[in-house]
Amino acid sequence: MHAVVKTVPGPGAVYEPWAFAPKPGLRDIQVRVEATSICGTDMQIYDWHELMAKRVKPPLVMGHEFAGKVVEAGKEVSDLREGDIVSGETHINCGRCFQCRTGNGHICERMLLRGVDTGGCFAEYHTLHESSAWLNDKRIPIETASARQRCSCCVCRGHSGTHRRSLRLRSNRSMSNWALQIVRSQQDLRNRHR
Ligand SMILES: [Zn+2]
Ligand SMILES: [Zn+2]
Repeated sequence: MHAVVKTVPGPGAVYEPWAFAPKPGLRDIQVRVEATSICGTDMQIYDWHELMAKRVKPPLVMGHEFAGKVVEAGKEVSDLREGDIVSGETHINCGRCFQCRTGNGHICERMLLRGVDTGGCFAEYHTLHESSAWLNDKRIPIETASARQRCSCCVCRGHSGTHRRSLRLRSNRSMSNWALQIVRSQQDLRNRHR
């Protein structure tokens, strides 16, 4: 298969033949990637921003926002099956630390990021743990499904803005606009219930 790979430290990346995605383990799924989104983090990796230069270890397949079709599921995968359309989760938590075991996996102390610390999804196929995949209604356009992870970040940012009664937005980026829409819809809801 082909993938977008950061082959060496420094600016740029190449689209080149890459080893096939690993066979799914017992609780993994393999997805044929049908849509991906480019995030600011991807731009930082591509440009070799100093933050990413300290963290990313090439060679690495880039990308962490995607949606696609399940083509193979491990024997112990419970909720997903071949043909399902899923979106990928960026954060990969360990499942074993205190935070993970107390329902706070989003602040796992050993958190890894797909496409930053481990192989990413800018490839024809991607293998991931079933707990990192979210099932989609097949009526949702695949491009929208790909942006689901980004949307979750905006919901999180929007909520924090609502609680703090202020929201700092940077430029006219899509994430800022989404967060703003979320804050507005929450305010509308609150006004309606007054
Ligand atoms: Zn992102
Ligand atoms: Zn953990």
